[in-house]
Amino acid sequence: MKTIKCSQIGGENCTFEVTAETMEEAKGKFSEHAKVAHAEMVAAATPESTKKWNEMFEKTWAAAGTDTPAASAE
Ligand SMILES: [Zn+2]
Repeated sequence: MKTIKCSQIGGENCTFEVTAETMEEAKGKFSEHAKVAHAEMVAAATPESTKKWNEMFEKTWAAAGTDTPAASAE
């Protein structure tokens, strides 16, 4: 499981975050969230900006640390 904050992927001061097993699942949850919370951003999206967002999302997902149990912390 990984967690990504909306603020990491363009949501500025948004505190919404998604925890998901796969990137596809996380992307789906953010899409639903964006339609409600960032309707203006969604309305202004172009194929080019959507492509850039997808690239940024994939990089952020790849860089996000996998959640580990607290017991493993030193
Ligand atoms: Zn948001």
